[in-house]
Formats: sequence, structure tokens, C-alpha cells
Amino acid sequence: MALLDFKEIPEAHKGGGQQDTFELLARDFFEAMGYKIVRGPGRGADGGCDLIIEETRTGIAGTTNVKWLVSCKHKAHSGAAVLKTDEAEVKDSVESNGCQGFIGFYSTLPSSGLIQKVQSIFSIDHQFFDSARIEQILLSTKHGRKIAERYFQNSYALWTKEYPTKAQIFSDADGLRCVNCGDDITEGRKGIVVSWEKFRDNEAGQRERHVKHFYWCCRGECDRELKGKYGEAGYVDGWEDIHDLRIPTIYIRWVVGLLNHLYGGYRYSSEAFEAQKEMLLQLFPNVARNLTMGEVERINDLGAIPSFLGGLGYPDA
Ligand SMILES: [Zn+2]
Repeated sequence: MALLDFKEIPEAHKGGGQQDTFELLARDFFEAMGYKIVRGPGRGADGGCDLIIEETRTGIAGTTNVKWLVSCKHKAHSGAAVLKTDEAEVKDSVESNGCQGFIGFYSTLPSSGLIQKVQSIFSIDHQFFDSARIEQILLSTKHGRKIAERYFQNSYALWTKEYPTKAQIFSDADGLRCVNCGDDITEGRKGIVVSWEKFRDNEAGQRERHVKHFYWCCRGECDRELKGKYGEAGYVDGWEDIHDLRIPTIYIRWVVGLLNHLYGGYRYSSEAFEAQKEMLLQLFPNVARNLTMGEVERINDLGAIPSFLGGLGYPDA
């Protein structure tokens, strides 16, 4: 299912000062991909040429520059494919503009006739970017998502609601890594947190729950290996999905649970307690929102890193 609605970009022939929007998207898109913009979008008759971009290829024999002619066709509003007849002069336009390659940048699909036609021109390279490929590339990088946010305001807002990204809270919260294999297990579904606990009598003769170990790891093999290392007589292991802990409701339930434990009859080893704090800090960006500019300023005014942030540092303004 398409996530970005290309119909949000105005049609080229409708005027109103926005007729270049799709070409501007192409410019920003290729710039974000690392191409150099040699000639940007311009108004008026373009003789089949919308953009010229340059790619620097680094190889064993040194660097070579390849110039691409980019043809933008925005037909999302009609939904029609881009036809052979829409790209009449591919070879001539590429060569007369001093380019070595042709790129079709389309908000729909190229027709098979057009693909065949371009493939048959052996003297030039070619690439096609259709809406699905453009969307996939835009949404897969931070820079791309900024562009998507600008050109696809409504569909991007819907997408971020369904696929929330981490808030920029700490500059170097780099997530939870499996204590056995080192894999990043913050995202995805394979990570769990494990605690080893037992009931015991304390010095005053009162019953208390002792939490000896707390760590995070991959479900399965890593979990079994760690069980061999941390398991000991009388202690029972409990676990929770990290995937669930990234849900705001479960996260705050965990925090309140921890407070209740500390007030009630639980006793944490210092190792287990430090690990609990580390986990809460590392997962916090997943349940928090971004800071407003005012909040960033306020934190800078306050001047001190709160002690609970320890080594996590300042927010990423
Ligand atoms: Zn692991």
C-alpha cells in the first residue's frame, strides 16, 4: 500500500505558481541521494530536460563523473503510466545536454513500451524511479523523511502516526544491545529483558524479594546461554518483551511498578538497579515526544545535566 500520496503534489499544468513542485521534489530527492545538481528546474519549454545531475563514482582507477538527464513526469492525478510518446527524444536530449545517462522520475509507472525503448539505447545508462521506489528511498533515511514531510504533508503526518520514530532527547542514547551477542535489540521483536529474583529473609527477619540480576538479550539462544551464566539455586527468571516496553502504556506501568517495588518489599542488587535505570533511559526516546525549541532553550538555561542523565549528555537540538 502506498504510504505517500503523490496527488498532494500539484499538477504541473495547473499553474498557480506551484507548477514546478514535482521537479523541486526531484531536485531535493537527488541532492539527498548524493548527486550534485548541475542544472535545477526552470520554467518554460525544456526540450525534454527537467534537471541535470552529476554522480561521482569512485573506483580503483580514480573517480569518474557521470551526468544524468532527469525527466520528471507527474501523472499521479490521472494515474496514467508514462508512455513512449511522453519521452519522445530520449537519446537526443541526453546527448545534446552533454549527459551520459537518462533518469525517468515519475509519480506513476513507466509503461513497458517506454522501458523497452530506453533499454534499447545502448549508448546511455538509464534508471527509473517510480512512486513506490521514490517513497521507499525517502522514508528510509532521516534526510529523506525531512523531504517527505515538506512535499507530502498530509500523508507523511499519517505515516508518522502509524510508524513513530524515536524522539531526539539524548544525544547519545544508542539503544539496548544484547549482553550476550551485542546485537542492537531496541527495535524489532527479538529483544527481551530478564530479571532473576527470589524471596528471602533479610537481616531483620522480614520477608523480601531480592532482585539479583537484570539484563537484556535476544530471545532464544542468547537467553539460554545467559541462563547458564546467571541462573542459580532459588532464583527464578522473569522476562518482558522489549517490543512491549516501547509501548508508552507498558513503559509507564513498568516505571510505576519499579517505584512500588522500591517502596514495598523488594531489594535490588546495585547491578540490577543500575541496569533498570539504563534500560529506562535507553527506551525513553521511544515513548517520548521531541523537545520544542522552547524546551531545548530552557534545558540549556538550566545549565546542568540532570544527574539521572549520567553520561547520556545533552539533548540533540
Ligand atoms: Zn543476542
